[in-house]
Amino acid sequence: MSTPSEPQHVDRALLDQISAGLHPGTAGPETHFAPFDGTPITTLPTCTELEVADAVRQARIAQAGWARRSFAERAEIFLRFHDLLVDRQDEVLDLMQWEVGKTRQSAWVEVYMVATTARHYARRGAHYLADRSVRGFMPGLTKTVEVRVPKGVVGIISPWNFPLYLSVADAIPALLAGNAVVAKPDAQTPLTLLWARQLMIESGMPAEVFGVVAGPGPVVGMALVDNVDYIGFTGSTATGRLIGARAGERLIGCSLELGGKNPMVVRADADLERAVNGLAEAAFMNSGQMCVHVERAIIADSIYDTFKQRLLERVQKLRLGQAWDYSSDLGPLVSAKQLTNVSRHVEDAVAAGATVLTGGEPRPEVGPFAYAPTVLEGVTPQMAAYGNETFGPVLSLYRAGSDDEALALANEGNYGLSASVYSRDTEAADTMARGIRAGSVNINDGFAAAIGSIEASMGGMGDSGLGRRQGPDGIRKYTEPQTIANQRLLPAGVPPFLSSAAFIKISNGQLRLLRKMGAR
Ligand code: NAD
Repeated sequence: MSTPSEPQHVDRALLDQISAGLHPGTAGPETHFAPFDGTPITTLPTCTELEVADAVRQARIAQAGWARRSFAERAEIFLRFHDLLVDRQDEVLDLMQWEVGKTRQSAWVEVYMVATTARHYARRGAHYLADRSVRGFMPGLTKTVEVRVPKGVVGIISPWNFPLYLSVADAIPALLAGNAVVAKPDAQTPLTLLWARQLMIESGMPAEVFGVVAGPGPVVGMALVDNVDYIGFTGSTATGRLIGARAGERLIGCSLELGGKNPMVVRADADLERAVNGLAEAAFMNSGQMCVHVERAIIADSIYDTFKQRLLERVQKLRLGQAWDYSSDLGPLVSAKQLTNVSRHVEDAVAAGATVLTGGEPRPEVGPFAYAPTVLEGVTPQMAAYGNETFGPVLSLYRAGSDDEALALANEGNYGLSASVYSRDTEAADTMARGIRAGSVNINDGFAAAIGSIEASMGGMGDSGLGRRQGPDGIRKYTEPQTIANQRLLPAGVPPFLSSAAFIKISNGQLRLLRKMGAR
């Protein structure tokens, strides 16, 4: 094992500075460990349920003043944040690698996505949230406008796999819309979020509008759901169901960005080299610990053997490593628990008759949680790896005799997050895309084309979630539509100079006239 112990661009003084941003807690310290070598990174205090309620109360007080600022003023802050993030990215690249064990390139993708999100909503958010004048109840007399008011305090609960993107890119539109935020990062990745919060403060954001609380999900996460006005959750489907149920009891809105078992369909007319490269990237980026990564490749029968051969050659060239530079293609898994989960899926499949085409084992000589990129064949419905999310570097190959068969395989199961279709016939690919039950479908790309399209919505169907991030929905969900109707001259009902019968007669005539005139 050859891994440098600590990163270059962050030091203990920086860790102390950003850790001070954590809401004070008395529930006992929590230590988190570096996936590269299992050594402790920091020990931080965690909150009780009452302390979480206190963090939300403080954010609520600060929110009113923040909401009174103009959108343009808030947007300036996030454009400054964008610039600082791009300039000082080495610090957060180090932190993400340290906390998750991911490659530097995977960490950079998060910087790119967060910077893009900040720029997009700072420049486009006012348009998405603009007042909407509509035809009033009584033409000429009722002036009606629909406005958007912030929800209040938004809670954000995030996972460890993309610790910057999946917390900060959700917090930015919430803050821009005039909300305060209280976020709960995963216990594995508190520093990345705290660093970003500090950068926002340096960009001009008042510290009080962005609280961070730490502690176990079932206690601190649920306490957040119990106190905020809206909850944005990203994580597993099992936890998402609990959050959705609790949000339902409280009648607060929520968005649930959950798991997937994402398929890639390779049609017989696909550009094979492109499809092989796209699949290797989509299956193994972030060691497969990515919600939109591909776990199932459905390949046209006529090209299956050639495709398989070329894919295996490509996968065997992937560089599994632990480096603070850009020299590895995939890193270790995040923890011993994750290593156990992934190993179990593969062992269970092999015991029930599946074949390991490459990989299929831990790689302790690389790092304590490293697992080889793995391709399986012959995975059947009774195996755990068939329909359950593995969330690791494990890909299963399937044959399809026709487009219909490929579509049926792609749509198996209840997940519906992301999918991919490779074909030179873009019309056929488009038809197939529209038949796939997934929140996003990439044509001739593994996953990045859709998620990188910031103006379009991202989210899941079925067990993959509710609600969307990115695009107009990604900011509007943090607001309540409010209708303001200004009634002029006459009341919006029977005027004093008419009897009810006369008023109803005139109104009935008006209904018939509006219908004939083609009024909407
Ligand atoms: P997880 O559900 O275990 O944890 C996610 C977050 O929820 C963590 O902060 C955790 O502390 C908190 N939490 C756990 N139990 C809780 C509870 N009972 N109440 C409140 N909060 C609780 O998920 P994970 O294992 O950390 O993340 C991996 C999962 O996330 C995978 O299923 C992956 O597909 C999914 N994911 C989805 C997206 C997406 O955008 N759809 C993105 C990334 C990851």
